[in-house]
Parts: sequence; C-alpha cells; structure tokens
Amino acid sequence: MAEDYYEILGVDRNASQEEIKKAYRKKAKKYHPDSNSDEADEEKFKEINEAYKVLSDEEKRKKYDQFGKAGVDDSYKRRARSDFSDFEDIFSSFFGDIFNQGRTGRRRERGQDLRAKIDITLKEAYEGGEKSIELERYTRCSQCDGTGAEDQSSVKKCTKCNGKGKVQQVKRGAFGQQVVITECDMCGGTGEEIGEKCSNCSGEGRVKKTEKIKFEIPAGVKNGQKVRVQGKGHAGKRGKKPGDLYVIVEIEEDDVFERRNENLFYNLKMSFPDAALGSKAEIPTMDGEVELDIPKGTQNGDIFRLQGKGMPKLRRRGYGDLYVKAVVETPENLNEEEKELLQKLREHESQHKEPDKGFFETVKENIKDAF
Ligand SMILES: [Zn+2]
Ligand SMILES: [Zn+2]
Repeated sequence: MAEDYYEILGVDRNASQEEIKKAYRKKAKKYHPDSNSDEADEEKFKEINEAYKVLSDEEKRKKYDQFGKAGVDDSYKRRARSDFSDFEDIFSSFFGDIFNQGRTGRRRERGQDLRAKIDITLKEAYEGGEKSIELERYTRCSQCDGTGAEDQSSVKKCTKCNGKGKVQQVKRGAFGQQVVITECDMCGGTGEEIGEKCSNCSGEGRVKKTEKIKFEIPAGVKNGQKVRVQGKGHAGKRGKKPGDLYVIVEIEEDDVFERRNENLFYNLKMSFPDAALGSKAEIPTMDGEVELDIPKGTQNGDIFRLQGKGMPKLRRRGYGDLYVKAVVETPENLNEEEKELLQKLREHESQHKEPDKGFFETVKENIKDAF
C-alpha cells in the first residue's frame, strides 16, 4: 500500500483544494470497484478515499503535514475497512450513483451463499487436511452452459438496454441533475433476450444437484470455526457468479483429551505407591505415546507439562502443550496383606507424627520403612 497521501492522489505538497478535488475525481472513478475499468480495485479505491478525506480537510491536512498519519484520527479508517459505504458516500457526492445501485445491488446478483456443518474428531482437527461433504446446490446448467437458452442462436440483444444490461435515467438530486445507471429490468442485467428457454433449467441457467464438495480444513481448527469454500454456494441465475459455501466445523468430544485453545489436558490416574515412590507412565499424545517420569512424592493434582505435545497453533508455527494432571487413586478392595501393610504404615506414622505436618508429608518421610 502506498504510504503518502499526496502520492496516492498524485498531487504536489502545495496543491490547492481545487487540485486535490480534481485529482480525487479522476482517480476514484478509475479505481471504483464497480467501474468497468480494468483497473477497478477496491483496496486502491479505499486508499484514494482515505487520502482525500484527510487532504480535503484543512485541519486534518495540517496535522498530517506535521505528524504524518499519526497526527490524524484514524477511527474512520478502521470503520471504512469493514464498511465500504462510508467511502461510497464521498464518491456519490461527486458522481451520484453512477455504478448500478451501489455495492449491495451488485452483490445480490450473485448466487446465494450456503451453509453446512461437518463433524470431525479431535485427531482430524489436529491433522487438518482435505474433507468433503455432500450437499444440494444450484449448479450451472450444463445443457445451456448457464445461458438459459435452448438454442444459442435464439439469444438476441435485449431491446430495452441494447445489450448493455444497464439503463440510464436522469434524476434530480441534491447536486442538480444526475445520470443514474441501474440494472435493466427486462433482461435482469444480462443484456440478452432469450427466444426459447432451455428445457433443462427453464431458462434459469442453473439446476439443483447433489454434489460432493471437497475443501481443506486447517490443522488446529477450532470448534465452531467457519471455513469458507469460495464459489461453492448456489450458482447465480443465467451464468452469474456463484455464492460461497461456509462450512461450520464441529469437533466431537474426545474420550482422552480435553482441549483449551491449542493446549490439551490429560488426567493420569496413578496408584498411591506410584505417586509416593515415583514411577514411569505411558502418556498418550496426538502422535503416539511418550514416557513420563513420575517423581517420587507426586501429589494428587500435580501437573506436568509436555511441551509441544498439544494442538497445532492456527495460522502460526508450532504447537501448544499437553498438561498431564496426576490423579492419585486411593486403593479400594484391599486384600489382607495390603490391609496389613497400610495398617503398619498408619501405626508407624502416628509414632513419628509431628503436629504441623499432614498425612502425605509424613508418609513421604517414612516411605522407606513403611513399604
Ligand atoms: Zn439450461
Ligand atoms: Zn436489458
């Protein structure tokens, strides 16, 4: 993106307001996204408007000259990035509605967007990759190739708009007489009149079909995330552009792991002796098991972090972590020998008991004698 507002408009630093206005008119018209010009470019159009908004305002221009972009309040800029109509308004104040009925009118010509849902497992979310779904959508009619005509030779220029697809009207507006261009209602903007309608699609240029649609889900995809599949919404009428398909990804609950963003959580059950004496455990991860050393004296609720063993980070490099929580199980259904051992441990403990230490602390100290 060009940086300097003067450069964007192609004017001198000392340019008069009249020169700035003139430069704006010329450029804005050329780059307007709805113009038929080859150079139509929405980003550039926004840039030009942004530059004009500042330079046409003497107050803002002064601040800009002194401090650059930091000197001008850019809240309008942020708003305009998401809302095209803000700049469209400045433009219309010069030219009126010369391109169609503005953006919304143009967008409506496309086929409708579609929504679908896909259920995947946590493992699939981890791996990402190609998925597919089947759905019914309007697709371009193959018999008439979207034209809607039974016979291509019967397609003639629309008599109302003379094939342009647009009609001009002169309107009186706030800025005097304006030429307003709207879509031709006779041909729906196609510029064509059909003799005999296509028998397959009844002239609509599209038919409903069940289709298998393939798309990519990113590794590390989140639950509820929308994946856009360009051009796989409904086909437009009579050869117009298709809409997009939005697939909502739903991740099934996993039996082993709990997920929070890019991190995974795993409960590792261990026996009381394993926790007290230390041991080794096999920990499942998304790419196979790893061995974890459980240090002696591990407490219930202690957490071990396995770095990089979580989910892939979305749109970033690297992986989250896997947190392993120690869940120390109290023994149940003891046999006689075990009962005896524990009984011994208890007696041993009471002899050595110090008033400010808890059970586990005492056990840790006496562990060698007890078992
Ligand atoms: Zn057809
Ligand atoms: Zn027409």
